[in-house]
Amino acid sequence: MRLKYPFLDLALAHAHYMDQLKAAACEVIERGRYLHGPHTELLEQEIAQLCQTKHCVSVSNGLDALRLILRAYKEMGRLHDGDEVIVPANTYVASVLAVSDCGLVPVLCEPREDTLNLDSRLLEELITPRTRAVMPVHLYGTPCWDETLMRVAREHDLLIVEDNAQAIGAKSAVAGLNGTVVTGGLGHAAGISFYPTKNLGALGDAGAVVTNDDELAATVSALANYGSDRRYHNIYQGYNCRLDEIQAAMLRVKLLHLEEENNVRNSVAQAYSITITNPKVKTPDFIEGTKQIWHQYIVRVEQRDEFRNYLTEHGVGSDIHYATPPHRQPCYQGILQGAYPITERLADEVVSLPIAPPITPADACAIAEIINRF
Ligand SMILES: *Cc1c(COP(=O)(O)O)cnc(C)c1O
Repeated sequence: MRLKYPFLDLALAHAHYMDQLKAAACEVIERGRYLHGPHTELLEQEIAQLCQTKHCVSVSNGLDALRLILRAYKEMGRLHDGDEVIVPANTYVASVLAVSDCGLVPVLCEPREDTLNLDSRLLEELITPRTRAVMPVHLYGTPCWDETLMRVAREHDLLIVEDNAQAIGAKSAVAGLNGTVVTGGLGHAAGISFYPTKNLGALGDAGAVVTNDDELAATVSALANYGSDRRYHNIYQGYNCRLDEIQAAMLRVKLLHLEEENNVRNSVAQAYSITITNPKVKTPDFIEGTKQIWHQYIVRVEQRDEFRNYLTEHGVGSDIHYATPPHRQPCYQGILQGAYPITERLADEVVSLPIAPPITPADACAIAEIINRF
């Protein structure tokens, strides 16, 4: 059945600048430089500017961005096998995969009920003599940053590695370590994902690392290119995690539209939140002083299956982010132990409503009216 309001249709989302994408792709194909080309270099400059960081290293995807940061800190002697990294229990599994893949130990932290992000008030009790880093995840486009997080990190000399996969362009209410409020520039380093469904999505896999740290940027850059600091000279046992020039070109076209698209998402979120009055459907919080970029618009509904079936019957697509938290995944059985009741309840209740282009505030009002009759 074709839905009147599909949850996400990327071809539709790209429709009004399809010609620009095609022209940029043709240009790359005809130039013949498919890696390390001019678009890659310009994209890095543009992303660094957007995140207000000194460096941006383009990489293959968001998971690799996070893995490369952690591996680089190991090469730099800042992290060691078995060190603990605090990550939110309520996140996409990739945040945790990056930690465990690098031989580090993920320690899960429950979320706040308002932001759904890591609750910094719980950090202190999770710290052990092996804690070396914390990974705030700006989930759904809501910044995960506050004074408590910074104070605890400072007092315990923790590295702060942001998972900025879902929040490029968001702004925190409180300035970060470097004086900026833009997510990605708040901590010591950040991983960004340009997965196609993200607010700034490539037409395939892509990602980036941003940081103000010269040594980290150089190390990540070498690690992502076979571990070589110059041609045929390998200082690390590295990887191939480069970004394709064609994806850089696609991203540069889409970057021109990002701010406008984020503004429309914000209007859509407001339209939903004002119009939805059904007590069975809890709408997400707008966090005072921040700029949320609404990667997802998450409502919470106890009768979730019934609700989603009802939406489908009325032509409205929906999705779940995420039905199974990392500690409940088969790959982490016997590894990530403990009870995370807030995370588990969220996993049972969350529903993502359509918010990506071409959804408009008028569409959101129409969908909200349908929701109010549930
Ligand atoms: C998408 C995502 C990632 C991984 O990014 P990929 O580009 O898909 O590898 C990591 N963390 C979070 C929170 C994400 O949403």
